[in-house]
Amino acid sequence: ELILAIETSCDETSAAVVRSGKEICSNIVSSQIDVHERFGGVVPEIASRKHVETITRIIEAAIAQSGYTANDLSAIAVTEGPGLVGALLVGNVAAKGLALALNIPLIATHHIAGHIYASRLEHEMRFPALALVVSGGHTELVLLPKEGVFQIIGRTRDDAVGEAYDKVARALKLPYPGGPHIDRLAHEAAAEIELPRAWLEQDSYDFSFSGLKSAVLAVINQHRMKGLELDEAALAKGFQQSVIDVLVTKALRAAKQYGVEQLILCGGVAANRGLRQALALACEKDKLQLIVPSPKLCTDNAAMIGAAAYIKFKHGQFAGLDMKADPGLSLEKWSIETLA
Ligand code: ATP
Ligand code: MG
Ligand code: FE
Repeated sequence: ELILAIETSCDETSAAVVRSGKEICSNIVSSQIDVHERFGGVVPEIASRKHVETITRIIEAAIAQSGYTANDLSAIAVTEGPGLVGALLVGNVAAKGLALALNIPLIATHHIAGHIYASRLEHEMRFPALALVVSGGHTELVLLPKEGVFQIIGRTRDDAVGEAYDKVARALKLPYPGGPHIDRLAHEAAAEIELPRAWLEQDSYDFSFSGLKSAVLAVINQHRMKGLELDEAALAKGFQQSVIDVLVTKALRAAKQYGVEQLILCGGVAANRGLRQALALACEKDKLQLIVPSPKLCTDNAAMIGAAAYIKFKHGQFAGLDMKADPGLSLEKWSIETLA
C-alpha cells in the first residue's frame, strides 16, 4: 500500500511516498530557511507563496524518485493541522486535486502525530508508549496507550522549547533557526552559567520556558550595561542544561508512572545532541527503551505524515473533499478511537 504524503504546515515544502506506513520510497524536503532567515523567523505570507511556487515540482519529484507512478498510489495524505493556515491550505488544495484526479482516498493527518510516527520509519513501535514531543511550536508529553490513540499528559504553559531556543539565539545575534547554533556553542563551552529550572507543581508534567528565557536575557543585559564581556558559550550551555534537566526528569518520571514499553523523542529539537545524549543515558539507567528518529526525520518532512496517515488508512478513516485546513487541530481528537 503506497501513500503519497504532503506536508506544508510551516516553512518546509515536502512530499513523500511511503509504503505500508514504514518504508520510505522517497522523501523530498524543500526548506525555505534562506528566505526567512533575514527576517529572523517565518513570515506567514512569504511561506504560503513559496509553497505555491514549489509544491507541484516537489510532488512530481517525490513520485518520480519513488520508482512508482501516480497510478500505483493507494491514497493521498496531507497535514490538516496544526500550522500556519495559509501554508496548510496550499498542501490541502494540492492533495484534494490529486485525490480527485486519481480517484483515491484522502487522509487528513495531524502534524504532531507525524512527528511521533516518524519513529516507525526506522524502528519497531511498541505500546503503551510515551512521546516527548519537542518542536518549534510544541512541547508535550503524549501517552499512546495503543496504536493511534493519543493522550496529552503534559504541555508547555508558555513557550515551546524550539521557540525558546530561537529567541535565545536571536538575543545572542545567531542566525535563524537558532537551535543548532546554541547546541554547537553548548558543546564547545568550557564553563557553564547556572540558570534556574522551572519544575512547576510537584506532580505536574507541564513545562514552562519563558522564565528561563527571561533569565538568559537578564544575563545578557547585565553584561552589556556593565560593559563586561559575556561568555556566550557558557550561557548557551547553562540554558541547554536547564532545558535538558527538566525535559529528561519529567519524561522519565511519566514513563515510570505509566509503565510504558518505549520512550519516543521527536520533533525538531530532538535533533539536539545534548538532549539525545542525556535522555539516552537516563533511559539506559532505567532500562527503558528509547527511540529517536535520525535528525533529518526529526525536522518537518512528509514521510512522517505518510507514516501517521497509514493508521487512518488501515481503519478506513478518510477525509471528504470538503476537508478544511485546521491551524488548531487537536491531537487527542485525531485518535482513531476515543478511550472510555
Ligand atoms: P511544530 O512541529 O510544533 O509545528 P515546527 O514544525 O516549526 O513546529 P520543527 O520543524 O519540528 O518545528 O522544529 C524546528 C525547531 O527545532 C526550531 O525551533 C529549531 O531551532 C529547533 N532545532 C533544530 N535543530 C536543533 C538542535 N540541534 N537543537 C535545538 N533545537 C533545534
Ligand atoms: Mg520548519
Ligand atoms: Fe514540526
